[in-house]
Parts: sequence; structure tokens; C-alpha cells
Amino acid sequence: MAKYIFITGGVISSLGKGIASASIGKILESRGLKVAIMKLDPYINVDPGTMNPYQHGEVYVTEDGAETDLDLGHYERFTNAQASKFNNITTGQIYNWVISRERRGDYLGKTIQVIPQITDAIKEKIKECAGVSKTDIVIVEIGGTVGDIESLPFLEAARQFRLDMGYDNVLYIHLTLVPYIKAAEEVKTKPTQHSVGTLREIGIIPDVLICRTEKPLSESVKEKISLFCNVRKEAVIESPDMESIYQIPLVFKKQILDEIILGHFKLICKFSDLKDWERDVVTRVLNPKNKVTIAVVGKYIELQDAYKSIYEALIHAGIYNDTKVEIKKIDSESLEKSDIGKIMRGISGILVPGGFGYRGIEGKIKAIKFARQNKVPFLGICLGMQCAVIEFARNACNLGGANSTEFRKTKYPVISLLAEQAKVQDLGGTMRLGAYPCKIKKNTLVSKTYGRMLIQERHRHRYEFNNKYRKIFEKKGMIFSGVYQKKNLVEIIELKGHPYFIAVQFHPEFKSKPDQAHPLFRDFIKAAVNKS
Ligand code: GLN
Repeated sequence: MAKYIFITGGVISSLGKGIASASIGKILESRGLKVAIMKLDPYINVDPGTMNPYQHGEVYVTEDGAETDLDLGHYERFTNAQASKFNNITTGQIYNWVISRERRGDYLGKTIQVIPQITDAIKEKIKECAGVSKTDIVIVEIGGTVGDIESLPFLEAARQFRLDMGYDNVLYIHLTLVPYIKAAEEVKTKPTQHSVGTLREIGIIPDVLICRTEKPLSESVKEKISLFCNVRKEAVIESPDMESIYQIPLVFKKQILDEIILGHFKLICKFSDLKDWERDVVTRVLNPKNKVTIAVVGKYIELQDAYKSIYEALIHAGIYNDTKVEIKKIDSESLEKSDIGKIMRGISGILVPGGFGYRGIEGKIKAIKFARQNKVPFLGICLGMQCAVIEFARNACNLGGANSTEFRKTKYPVISLLAEQAKVQDLGGTMRLGAYPCKIKKNTLVSKTYGRMLIQERHRHRYEFNNKYRKIFEKKGMIFSGVYQKKNLVEIIELKGHPYFIAVQFHPEFKSKPDQAHPLFRDFIKAAVNKS
């Protein structure tokens, strides 16, 4: 039978619950356990697919094509657990499910209420995830902050879980903030006491507290937290700000959090010391030999989370190449009117990420033209590939005004919708989503990069390269180096005579890990190092 860990957050949001959950997954996995990590999101959308990055940050896509919360990206980067549609549940999905059962008549005669029908549905979904992933441990991260109205049914389901499954099979971890007050020169435990108090009102008594803090916690502060929050002192874990998120598993390991968890579950597991993670990831990320600056030209650069997986994938490629990757975030809209030569001074590579809508497109095209003409290493992702196609059409193939039909009516629709997408009416969950195979062409740059002829990468888009233009493009030096053969769709383009100009219709960033940099990012940074 699986064991369950529920992770809640208190005091404020953005404490890094996702990274804490992923790090706990990591330290338990290193003890030889199979883990699955789930995120329960309290919003009413069925999934984040229709939300804008300002609301939600990046939409993370799983292999099976679910559009999910970006925390699933952390889970996949830190552990070997593969995320799927079973790993992210929202209030919208739960209500959708219960209401469709009600319409079918499954509850005939009953009044449907939050308790027990909604909480039962939540518990069923958690057990379903445990069942499909066949794991020893299921880590369930509950979105939001304790005290929010929206997350109450999830917390209530978590409370019932221990009663249903038995004390030893369920563990509650609460992530909280212990702020440092400068004027008093002290850390303060009161917000933590209040937040644990609120949790206890709901009926959950946490077994472990993870305290986010700027300053180290003294023994007496830990004792105070232990006493007031009714948590054993050794289970008061300190989580200071670190230079890299990849240090967090080591921080937890040092405080024997894995032992505390295993002790609660009465599990005896093999020894581990995380030395490989320390050597291959942490030491390398903290002590790079080289440095390069990469320009990321996007529409949402002021948001930290909009291109989360891309930023992480760049860091992973830096780890591989012993290089610190400095990211210069450039707003594509303002680039339209700026002096590009000046802005790109000192830049060793340009990356144009995915996106939707016309705003900022001309700035992205301008950056790509600069990369192509000045032989600056370039990586285009999804919309970034579509912009590279538009740029090449306009400036190398003499197709003035070429565009994507997503943005404009044009004489040269070099990016357009397939017939199957043109008939789509509902916008939620209807893009080309999830993993598709791609056949790589021999003797191309990507064939060397991947070292394989058949790859599988994740998608999230509606528009495609318009095959009508393939011949003209090829004549002018574009190579179509990857194709989804079943439908003859262009997946990868590259340019003859350019050191590194690759653009892909899929999202390689979702498959990069700190100790296994994605080949496209790895060689992009290698090319950037060579240039700098
Ligand atoms: N807007 C483009 C499309 O739908 C690209 C999407 C993306 O970059 N994820 O095809």
C-alpha cells in the first residue's frame, strides 16, 4: 500500500512549496523508494491551459498532453517520477466530474454537498494517482495558503485521509515562513504559530514543519516553534534561502528529513548520501568556469515564472558546459523600436520562446534576423520557430509581408492552421498537445546534437509550418531536419552555414534535467561559449 505525504503552505504564497515537494521526492527516491508527486490546485478552471501567464506563469505540458501547473516541472526535474494528467487536479476538474456523475444519476436520491461528495471525489483522485503510478510514496502538494476559502475542501479531504488510511500511512508537512524583523534583530515565530493554529482548527496537526527563513534558526527558536506548534523539535526543519534551488534536497538531507519521514511510516530503506547529486549538479552549478550571456526575447520577461522551464533548461546546459548562464531578458515589444546592435552587445546566444498573439512578434523577428545575419547562436521554441520561419520568408525568400495566419491575413501564410484545427471551436485542451515522435534527417546539426534518428518531444500549439513553402525555403538554405512523419509536419528547422541556428515546433525545455541537460540546450550553450 502507498504512503501519503500532504504538503500545505502557510503565512504567504511563493515560499517554494513546489520545490520543497520536489526535494522531498528526491531525498526519498534516493533511498530506493518510488515516488509520485501530485499538485491539487484550488482554482475553478479545469486546467491552466486557457489562463494567461500573468495569472498562472508557465503552463507545463506532460508527456500524455495534459496542460498543468508549473510545479510539475519541478517534480520532473528533481525526480524520476514521470508526470501525467493524473498528477494535477483542480477544483474545476473535481466539480466537473461530480456534476457529470450527478447528471448520469449515480447519486440518485441524494443531495450533493462539499462533504462528502466533493471530498470523496478528491480522495478518489489521489488514490487513482497512487494506483496508476504504482508508487511507494505519493506526495500531495496542496496549492494556495492555509486560510484560503478555496482550498478548504482539499484540506478537509487531506484530514479525512489519515482517518481512512491509518495514522502510520499519512504524514502532514507544513511549509511556513519565519520572518526576520530588522528593527528587532530577531526572527519571529508568531506567523507560524497562527498558521499552524489555523491548520489545527481544520483538524490537521502537522508532523513536520519546514521553516523558510533568511536567517539561521537558533536552537531556542526551534524549541519555541516545537512547543507552540506541537511538533517534535527534530521535525522543525530549517530552509534558508539558497543560491540554487538544487541545493534544497541537500539542506533537507542534512537535517535527516528522509529519516524522519521513513520513521513515521515505519519503513526501512537503503542508505543514501546524495553524493552524485552534490557532485554532478550542486558543485557544478555553484562553481562554473565560464560565463555567457544569453538573450531571451519574450513578451512576458518581467514575470519570473512565465518561462520557468526554459530558464531552468539554460541552467542545466550551463551545468553541463561548466558555464554560468547569465540571462538577459529582453521585452520583444520594446525591441521593435530599439537599436538591436546596441542591445545585443555582449550577447553570445539568442533564444526566442513560445507564446500566443501578435503583440511583440515583430521584435522577435528582428532579434532572429540579427541572429541569422550575425551568426549568433539561436534557439527558437514553438512560436520562436514560427517567427524564424516568417523572418526567413520575408528576408531570405523575398516573400514580403509573409506571416502566420494567427496574426494577420497575408498573401504568404507560411504558418497556418491544419484543416483539423480550423474546425476546432472549444479552446480548452484542443491544441496539438503532448509527446509526438519526430524523425531526424541524416547529416544535420540536430542529428549530431541528439545522436539519434527518432526522438519524442512535447507539443503545445495550434499552428504549423505550411508545407507549400518547403521547396522555396530549401532553395534558400533552410534545412528541414526533423519531421513528424505520420502527418508530414515540420518539427525542426536549421540553417546551412550558421554555427547554431535551430528552431523547433515543440518544447524541449520540458524534458531537461539538472543532471541530464537537454541536447538542444546543451549544444546551444556550447556554441555560445565558443562564440564568446
Ligand atoms: N501561438 C502558436 C501556436 O498556437 C505557438 C504556440 C506556442 O508557442 N506554444 O501555434
